[in-house]
Amino acid sequence: MLKTTHNLIKDVGKKLGLTSEQIEKLLAVDKIHEFEIQMESGKKHQAYRVQHSNKLGPYKGGIRFHPDVSLEEVQALAILMSLKAAAIGLPLGGAKGGVAVNPKEMSLAELEELSRDYVLNLHEHIGPDKDVPAPDVNTDSQIIDWMVDEYEKLTGDTSKASFTGKSVKAGGSLGRDEATGRGGVIVLRQILNKLAPSQSLGEAVSNRIVKRQAFATGLSISEPITYAVQGFGNVGAHFALVAAQEQPDWMLVAATDSSGGVYSPADLSVKQLAQYKSDGGRLHELNEGRAISNKELIGLDVDVLVLAALGGAVTEKNMHQVKAHAILELANGPVSDEAAKHLESKGIMIIPDILANSGGVIVSYLEWLQNKQGEHWTEAEVNKQLEEYLVKATNRIYDMAQKRSMTLKEAALAVAIERLVKS
Ligand code: NAD
Repeated sequence: MLKTTHNLIKDVGKKLGLTSEQIEKLLAVDKIHEFEIQMESGKKHQAYRVQHSNKLGPYKGGIRFHPDVSLEEVQALAILMSLKAAAIGLPLGGAKGGVAVNPKEMSLAELEELSRDYVLNLHEHIGPDKDVPAPDVNTDSQIIDWMVDEYEKLTGDTSKASFTGKSVKAGGSLGRDEATGRGGVIVLRQILNKLAPSQSLGEAVSNRIVKRQAFATGLSISEPITYAVQGFGNVGAHFALVAAQEQPDWMLVAATDSSGGVYSPADLSVKQLAQYKSDGGRLHELNEGRAISNKELIGLDVDVLVLAALGGAVTEKNMHQVKAHAILELANGPVSDEAAKHLESKGIMIIPDILANSGGVIVSYLEWLQNKQGEHWTEAEVNKQLEEYLVKATNRIYDMAQKRSMTLKEAALAVAIERLVKS
């Protein structure tokens, strides 16, 4: 993963005309904190915090608890965080943390002990103006609330701005739960608004998507945009719920979870699906439309394939099945690099994760701002600011792609790299 991240930066850096010295500087991490957490039970767990760059603002990035956590992975994720913050224009740097542990084998008391010990080891190196961690894989608002509490005890800081992703009662932001899905809707809508048949990137995308753009801008083409969601979890379901509310011209025709899912060319009821999932149902058992497998979903003839489950959903193995005109990457890395190259060569647009799923980090930033200013904003205020950031970021990345004849992924990295190099 680290090698792939380095190669991505090198490739785009070269396209931007950077020297090898400038590229090496971009790849170098500022600090690596590596320590062992010894539990009362006697068990030991390897823990990390990698701080890549704070040129644009305090370090920022999640903490994951997972058996596969390694220094190499945390390092790559820290670099990607710097790039993400820079690509969307946030005044934040990049970091990542992790503990190599299986939290599913731990009691609640052990999880709390692990979370507090992580902060005990790290508190001198983090803080509201130094490094602001957040939840990531297998860490949630409860874990962050324990960490904030521990940080307060150790440092006396009561601002709550030391971490983001807190529960709302402990200083978290309204709108955070749906932010990533909502952000995906804003980005996709903005891209559709930008597409026009005369533009070169528009030509690379199917005529059908371009026709939809005419629809979106008020011309009289009445066919709706069809989309399918792989991974109807927090992000996927919120994407569909916000789309149903704000984009009545978008039609959900298929959705899956890890069990498989349902397909109906005549529009699925998003509310019903979301309710069914939050009641603990498995989508393939839902009595609506017809049942489909995840394999089948990838090959559906829809306008937009929304990938909101896991990394590596589309690879060399199944890329030939894709019929969609565009892919929205809401998960991290759901399309492998080889698959992305192939699909883009066929004119399928990939809206990259670094932009498409950045709603979460933007609202994390807004949470930090509220804590710093001692304020608590309404959900409408948070959503308004989220929209402003994402519209600006999407426009800038889209325009970069046009100007430099790049894919959107390259363009997002190019915007990020330019910001980091200039700072
Ligand atoms: P989640 O656990 O709430 O939802 C994931 C969904 O994917 C579940 O419904 C699960 O059943 C389904 N799933 C798992 N394997 C699948 C498979 N093989 N095929 C189809 N569906 C499958 O997680 P989430 O918070 O919605 O996150 C989804 C993805 O988005 C993850 O990759 C995550 O890293 C990424 N992401 C999340 C956020 C966020 O704010 N939550 C931000 C950025 C990126």
